[in-house]
Amino acid sequence: MLKIAVQKSGRLYEDSMRLLKECGIELNNGNKQLKAVALNFPLEVYFLRDDDIPQYVFDGVADIGIVGENVVLEKGKEVRSVYRLGFGRCRLSIAVPKSFEYAGPLSLNGIRIATSYPHILQRYLDEQSLSAEIHEISGSVEIAPGIGLADAICDLVSSGSTLFTNGLREVAVILQSEALLVANNQLNDEQRQLLDKLLMRINAVKSARKNKYILMNAPNHQLANITALLPGMKSPTIVPLAEEGWSSVQSVVNVDDFWEVMEKLKSFEAQGILVMPIEQMIV
Ligand code: ATP
Ligand code: MG
Repeated sequence: MLKIAVQKSGRLYEDSMRLLKECGIELNNGNKQLKAVALNFPLEVYFLRDDDIPQYVFDGVADIGIVGENVVLEKGKEVRSVYRLGFGRCRLSIAVPKSFEYAGPLSLNGIRIATSYPHILQRYLDEQSLSAEIHEISGSVEIAPGIGLADAICDLVSSGSTLFTNGLREVAVILQSEALLVANNQLNDEQRQLLDKLLMRINAVKSARKNKYILMNAPNHQLANITALLPGMKSPTIVPLAEEGWSSVQSVVNVDDFWEVMEKLKSFEAQGILVMPIEQMIV
């Protein structure tokens, strides 16, 4: 059995559960207990506060975990990052009240900064050779300047709307973060094999989301151009149509290049282009 720690509720919960589901893992967790067992994969899921996950994985109570990079760095526990999951994206930033005259990092010298991330903040201050007074608080950091507890804050930001409603302005980004899959450093062979199996599935899900399946009809004299444009996974599938001189072409296209590829296909006289999502992609 591989044991995975995930956040029990909060910003990472939904995406973590969705990832397991897309990996084909079903849980019997009807009434949200502390622990759930997968029905069709040797996996046990522990639902925890995100702050505790690095410690549990470090101690080996859980073998792997899904947690924000910000939390991993703050806790400083030696765990191995095995996959950048691409959700839970945010940044850890320094923000000051609108009236604060910020003229660069030197403006932080000697001020009081409230944060739940004292270690990451201290490291940033050291790197910049700055000295500021760090006030560690565990929540609602954004109200600290308003109540006179601090001159500035260092907190997680995604859209910036919380800062805005509290009359704060983001002046420096000190960390870009996303959810990580982390693992204990001393997994045994069996656990490592299970982790590899899970990683193979995660890769399949993530590659699938980055690609689309594409199908079209094209005149035979353009097939060389289209094949060069759409290399696909190995090379495109080309099947002759009943109509003389035409073929059906099937391939895979990266979503980042999607519109550019579409325009070129049109210029190569492709017709009846169908684009479909891919559920799983094993390369
Ligand atoms: P817990 O009860 O588990 O301790 P929490 O309140 O500490 O939860 P959440 O607010 O649910 O934590 O955030 C969990 C993680 O989501 C953060 O550590 C961070 O990695 C990520 N995240 C993404 N966007 C944001 C954001 N705008 N604000 C805070 N966290 C964010
Ligand atoms: Mg937390």
